[in-house]
Amino acid sequence: MANKKQPAKGKISKLTRLTAFWVIISLVGLAVISMLMPSGNLKDVPLSDVVKRANSGKVEQLEITGNDIKVTVKGEDKPTEKTVKEDGTIYDQGLNKDAKVKVQISQPSATGDIVLSLLTIFLPIAIIIGFFMFMMRQAQGQNNQAMSFGKSKARLYGADKKKVLFKDVAGNDAAKQDLEEIVDFLKFPKKYEQLGAKIPRGVLLAGAPGTGKTMMARAVASEAGVPFFSISGSEFVEMFAGVGASRVRDLFSKAKKNAPSIIFIDEIDAVAHKRDTRGGNGREDEQTLNQILVEMDGFDNETGVIVMAATNRADMLDPALLRPGRFDRRVTIVLPERKDRLDILKIHFKNKPLDSAVDLDKLAAKTAGSSGADLANIANEAAINTARANRKTITSEDVDAAFEKVAIGPERKSKIMNDKDRELSAYHEAGHAIVGHVLPDSDPVHKVTIIPRGQTGGVTWFLPPEDKSYTSIYEFKDILARAMGGRMAEKILYGDDGVTTGAGSDLKHVAEIARSMVVEEGMGQGLRNQVFAEDRDYFGMIKPYSDQTAEKIDKEVAGLVDEATQRAEAVLKENRKYLDDLAKVLLDKETIEEDEVNKVLKGATLPSKAKLHN
Ligand code: ADP
Ligand code: MG
Ligand code: ZN
Repeated sequence: MANKKQPAKGKISKLTRLTAFWVIISLVGLAVISMLMPSGNLKDVPLSDVVKRANSGKVEQLEITGNDIKVTVKGEDKPTEKTVKEDGTIYDQGLNKDAKVKVQISQPSATGDIVLSLLTIFLPIAIIIGFFMFMMRQAQGQNNQAMSFGKSKARLYGADKKKVLFKDVAGNDAAKQDLEEIVDFLKFPKKYEQLGAKIPRGVLLAGAPGTGKTMMARAVASEAGVPFFSISGSEFVEMFAGVGASRVRDLFSKAKKNAPSIIFIDEIDAVAHKRDTRGGNGREDEQTLNQILVEMDGFDNETGVIVMAATNRADMLDPALLRPGRFDRRVTIVLPERKDRLDILKIHFKNKPLDSAVDLDKLAAKTAGSSGADLANIANEAAINTARANRKTITSEDVDAAFEKVAIGPERKSKIMNDKDRELSAYHEAGHAIVGHVLPDSDPVHKVTIIPRGQTGGVTWFLPPEDKSYTSIYEFKDILARAMGGRMAEKILYGDDGVTTGAGSDLKHVAEIARSMVVEEGMGQGLRNQVFAEDRDYFGMIKPYSDQTAEKIDKEVAGLVDEATQRAEAVLKENRKYLDDLAKVLLDKETIEEDEVNKVLKGATLPSKAKLHN
């Protein structure tokens, strides 16, 4: 027997060696690239900052290669910083001709270019060949049961792993209560068997990404003190024919051997989407899913295995999964409310040295809509900010910066805006701020900035005083108007055709809200209290209403947008002086907070044209 397998084994290891060969080639290639690249450990600094320091004689030398600049600070003998200029000479970009700094310009290195272009040809080929070999190995593994390809990659979280308990998961008390029951089933199965009670087989955790579903499932296992086998739906997707189903079989047999135990299938939607919306792996997913169902149907009351699954898209799941005896227990995990956000923040800041001025309660207030994962991320980013600045305690500035980074993306300080764009940004944001400030049903302005971040040129933040569950028509209309404030400010300043793409996402936002008011909330003027749910089927959108109604809906939506535009314009025209004032302050300070906004806008008035009610 053993002899018979020898040849196959020899072939595989030859393939392995070949694959390894290509991996090494690629690694060497990468090493060469990184040697030719300018050294990566220089600190990135904004160009404006370098130019300023160079002009005041604080820089020894600038080495310019193409648009890359290496900066040697006075007193150093080699570059410690780097920056990037735009096309054109460094003098065009603000460096004085008579500045006391050595400027050394060199051509981009030609050898680097050649090696790079050779690599761009050969690296993909190497990767493709490597991948091909990997596929061959996979295929062989399937025919060769001696290989472990059919075996589940499921990981066992045993007693040694750091335990997550219910107390580590903040909020979601209702979900925890439901899951306590599952813990009890796992701990004392006899109690239920003796009474003839059916033990649940499947529990489906549904909720937005990052709300702690995976955490919850692990907490159930640790609370019950049972082994926990986990696998992710996305892992099945990368498998080849038949492997998914055999992994499922293996997973269940392991779990049964270790019963009582938990099987956790994360991201189950990856294999169990509705049949008509099935994309990608088609039949393979179906086989995997069917195997899961067959295994679960084979459970009896003494099996002692509970299958938990998590999904972000409960609406997309194949209904077969939800039938009795399968995932018939559903637990919804919701986004945290303000109090829960505070608890989550406390958990994640627990072992971090916080300055006493940091107000976590306020942070909890302004993170409405954030998931637990977002909050954990803020805590982590704040600590990173502190470490980067070589400080010992986390300050509120660190926390604020982390919050903004997580909420809208990192500041793009190095992007230099020309004066015209800065002015446009300042007026645009001032427009949002004034309209929001003046309208009675808008939340107060929290902060305005014209520092570009992520995809935006600037941001105006409004802050709800507390989490609101309901939104009135008045509030919606003020939200629409303040969103139009940016573009209307541009219009007032540059004329009707002078408006820019800067308002693109505002307009999209407005269109979406206006439509959902009419279609989903029954807030249309002539269609009040009627909703028009749309649905998707195999052929596309189904509209459960007539073409005439569709026309009415479009009119209603257009009416809302129009009204918002006019109200925003009326407010800004009435308060033209404040528009100039606020824009000027923004150009000067770039970021201003609530107090200062209120100071500048003290005296701004609500024109009767923009009023909706008294
Ligand atoms: P999901 O599986 O729902 O996408 P995870 O369980 O992977 O979410 O959560 C990601 C991370 O977010 C967790 O590791 C944890 O740090 C944090 N987190 C999420 N929800 C909570 C919560 N309710 N309490 C504490 N931390 C949380
Ligand atoms: Mg998860
Ligand atoms: Zn805007």
